[in-house]
Formats: sequence, structure tokens, C-alpha cells
Amino acid sequence: MNREELANLIFPGLTKTIADYETLYPERDLGENARVTRFAPSPTGFMHIGHFMPCLIDYVLARQSNGVFYLRNEDTDTSRSVEGAVEYIRSVLAAYDLNPDEYEYRDTNETKGSYGPYIQSERKEIYQTFIKHLLLEGKAYPCFLTKEEMDAIREGQARDKRRIGIYGRYAKYRDLPVEEAIERIKKGDAFTIRLKSNGDFNRKFKFNDLVNGEMEFPENDIDIPIMKSKDGLPTYHFAHLVDDYLMHTTHVVRGQEWMSSVPVHYELFQVFGFKMPKYIHIPLILKKDGESIRKISKRLDPEAKMTYYEEKGYPKFAVIEAIMTIVNSNYEAWREGHPDAHFTEFEFSPKKMSSSGALFDLDKLDNISKNYISRLTKEEVYEGALAWSKKYDDEFASILEKYKEYSMAIYNIEREQKKPRKDYTYYSEIKNKTWYMYDEYFKDVTYDFGIFKKEEVKEILNTYITEYYNESDDQETWFSKIKELCTKLNFATDMKAYKVNPENYKGSVVDITNFIRVGLTTLTTTPNLYDIMQILGKERVTKRIENL
Ligand code: GLU
Repeated sequence: MNREELANLIFPGLTKTIADYETLYPERDLGENARVTRFAPSPTGFMHIGHFMPCLIDYVLARQSNGVFYLRNEDTDTSRSVEGAVEYIRSVLAAYDLNPDEYEYRDTNETKGSYGPYIQSERKEIYQTFIKHLLLEGKAYPCFLTKEEMDAIREGQARDKRRIGIYGRYAKYRDLPVEEAIERIKKGDAFTIRLKSNGDFNRKFKFNDLVNGEMEFPENDIDIPIMKSKDGLPTYHFAHLVDDYLMHTTHVVRGQEWMSSVPVHYELFQVFGFKMPKYIHIPLILKKDGESIRKISKRLDPEAKMTYYEEKGYPKFAVIEAIMTIVNSNYEAWREGHPDAHFTEFEFSPKKMSSSGALFDLDKLDNISKNYISRLTKEEVYEGALAWSKKYDDEFASILEKYKEYSMAIYNIEREQKKPRKDYTYYSEIKNKTWYMYDEYFKDVTYDFGIFKKEEVKEILNTYITEYYNESDDQETWFSKIKELCTKLNFATDMKAYKVNPENYKGSVVDITNFIRVGLTTLTTTPNLYDIMQILGKERVTKRIENL
């Protein structure tokens, strides 16, 4: 009776029961092995590679089994919630084609799926219904410990080298008579609601993690808070229980840091008699730092944040590929055998994850990305460069729009061949590697002809342009004319002869082509010079030599 008074005092307006919610959210009507996964970020305003990796696994698991992948906004920690964070997450998911099947977006008023709300702060009544049930059963209680008291307990425990938390004799309000609790609440005393733990730290239970296999944990005996005093919202642990139960999640893919909470979650599911989902605790993501290997850090490593890949302009394929290679050790071998398959066709296995850590290698990503871009069509490279520039470089974007065909011709140099050139690692690099092709950027340039005097080079180039250069020559004729010029000026065309007696010549054919190359681009290395001259066209070529 008293418990009922307490429960109604704390939660006066609740109209539904747990059974009502169970009816409202029935078993999902899916195939036998269908997996229901969720991406459950807290809206902190950024996305870490440690969020992206589980998200990718969630997506693969759901797609492979004709299951459901849903997005749940875990915004119960209102102090950490950042405006626009969910929109950002949505944009990342969209950019990588990882769109969830069920979601709720407040800004656009869009929602899909019948297991919502998918925003935790909108589920308060649901959580409170479950908490009320525990109060009625005497399995939870209001706790009036103040922040100061809690701090003192923690300090004492640290000093005495005891486990931290509210358990045993520290659980001061666990056995407070219900009447007294009612009185204090009526008086307006602040309180949290704690689980009245039944566990025994000296007893062990077995738990099967899909990555780590069977593990043993001591039971939880801490009276963990399940509802916060500030806003009546649940803690992560309690929301995990309620949401993953009612949304029928089959697989929880989450960071290693949650492993230590397993005893708490195990107890919560036991208390309600609910079946636990399966767990995939993903390994830490590591990186090489000089000679040593350490955990990737969002503070120290720019590549820890997903914005890094966007700003650099890595194709989404490359980023997904690079992460999949650290998800499962056999991914790369699979990819070799299935070069054109979509990554979701890969049979993901949690057992093939390393439990000790996944080493993420930026060089590998660069390699994957470079190879990938080299296999794209010129149109695709153009689209990628344009999309990137529209976000990060307006000026280049307008140049690309103005010179579409011209730009595609540049990207096509040595592309349609068995071993295409690998010039671009990511889209932000394209401008830096092609700027000289655009007159807009080819201004106030300086030339370096090495040991040759600029005046002399100018004269040679003028001769070349007026007497030898013909735009309609094919590559062979073009080169034989350069050689003719060499002979006329006593520059060696036979490199072997030149190397034996360099003093017999003024230079070699390499010098002459270099004059042309530097004169037209300022650079000493470029893709195929003949192609460059073809694309620049007669007018630009002539003008650039004249302007030297
Ligand atoms: N909101 C939690 C986080 O961002 C989710 C963990 C989980 O997937 O359960 O870490």
C-alpha cells in the first residue's frame, strides 16, 4: 500500500503499464534470422571513428539479414546535448549511404518506424512506467544522498582502496521506511531513484560476448541510479534496457568502454525477466605513433573525427573500405575475390574481430583511396572534385563549372589504360595537382630552369613554338620534332651517348622537354607532357611561352 503511495507520488500522471507498451510494440514481423540493430549516438556534435565503426557493423548486420537498422537519439544527458548534432549525424549517415530504416528527425518533422519515439527525451513516460513498476515491487527506491555526501563517500572509498559506488553500507537510503521517503519527497527534498541491487559481488555469472566469447563477471551489487533527480530522465543503463527491449534490438554493437557495465545490464534484464540482446563489444581503435601503438584519440588525432575525411575529400567508398579492413581480418582477402561487390555482401563475423584492438592505418586508407579514384571515369572524378569544392572551395568550384570538359580531359590523362595513373588520393588534392592548367591560377608564377639561363631557354622555346610545334601532330611526330630541335641546337637525343660524353653537348633531350614542361607549367614533373599540351591547346601554349 505504502509503496503504491510512493510510486504515485513520484509518478502521478502515468496512465500505461509495461504490458500496454508490450502490446504497443509487439515482436517485429521479420524473417527468422533477421537482425535488428541500432545506431545510438549521444548528440554531442561530433562523430568519432569509434562511433562510425559500430555503425557500419550495425548496417551490415541488418542489411545482410533483411533486418532493421534504426537510429536512436540518446539525448538523456541534456548537459552534453548540442544543437544540430542529430542533423550532423544524419548528414554523415547519408553521405556514406548508411541511411537508417527507422528514425525521427525533429527539425524536419520526419519520422519512420512504429517503435518510436526514437528520441530518448521523448520517451520519459515509458521509462518512468518501468521505474514505477520497480518501485511498486520494492526493487528500486528514492535516494536522498546529496552531491556533497556522494563526494565524501567516493573520497573515502578511494582512500580506503574500496570499490567506488553506492552498495552495502554506503546505500544509506536503501532501507529507509517508505513513510519517511514519502515525507521527504512531500517536503521537496531532491532525490534520484536507485536500483535495489540483489547481486553479490563475490558471485560470478557467465556472459557471452560475440567478439570475446564466454566471459565471467562478478555480479553487480551497486545500487546504480536509474533515474536522475534533475529531469526525471533515466540513466544510460536504464534507457538501454527499456529501449532495446521495446524496440526488439537483437544485436547491440557498442564500444569496448561499455564492457564494464555488463554486470549492471545483466542484472537489469534479470530483474524484469527480459531476454538480453546479443552484444558485440568492438575493440579499441588503435594507431601507430612512431614506434609505439596507442588508442586513437579525438583530442590528439584529427583522423579520429569523421569531419577529417570529409574535409580532405576521401571518397566514401575508400573510408568504408579502410574501416571494413579493420572490422574483420579476412575482409581484404574477400575483397580481392569480389572486387565489385558491395561491402554489405561480405559475411561479417564478430569472431573475426580482434579483441585486443583494431589498428587503423591512414597510409592504407590513402592507398585504397588512390586506387579507387584511379579506377573512376573522368566524369566521376569531376563530380567528386566538384562536390568537394562546392563545400570547401567556391572559387575552384566555379572554375570547374566553367571548364567542365576541359577539366575532365585533365583527369583523363593516362586514365583509360591498364594501369591508370594514381595522381589523386582525395578530392581536395585535385586543385593542388592541376592548378597550372587553369589560367586563373597560372599568374605571377616563377620558373626555375636549373643551370640554364632563362634568356637562353626563352630563345629555345620560341624557336620550338615557331618552327617545330604543331598542335595537330600525334605524339610520335611531336616527339620526333623535339628531337630535331635537339639536333639543331646540339642537345643529345641519344641518352647513352650523352652519358658517356656529356661535354660534347649543350644538354640532352631531357633538358629540352624539361624547358617546355617548366615553361608551360612551372613544374618539373607532371603527367604526360604531350597530353598536357593537347589539352592546353595551341593558344594557351603559345601565350604561355610568349609570357615567359
Ligand atoms: N549513447 C551511447 C554512446 O554514445 C550508446 C552506446 C550504445 O550503443 O549502447 O556511446
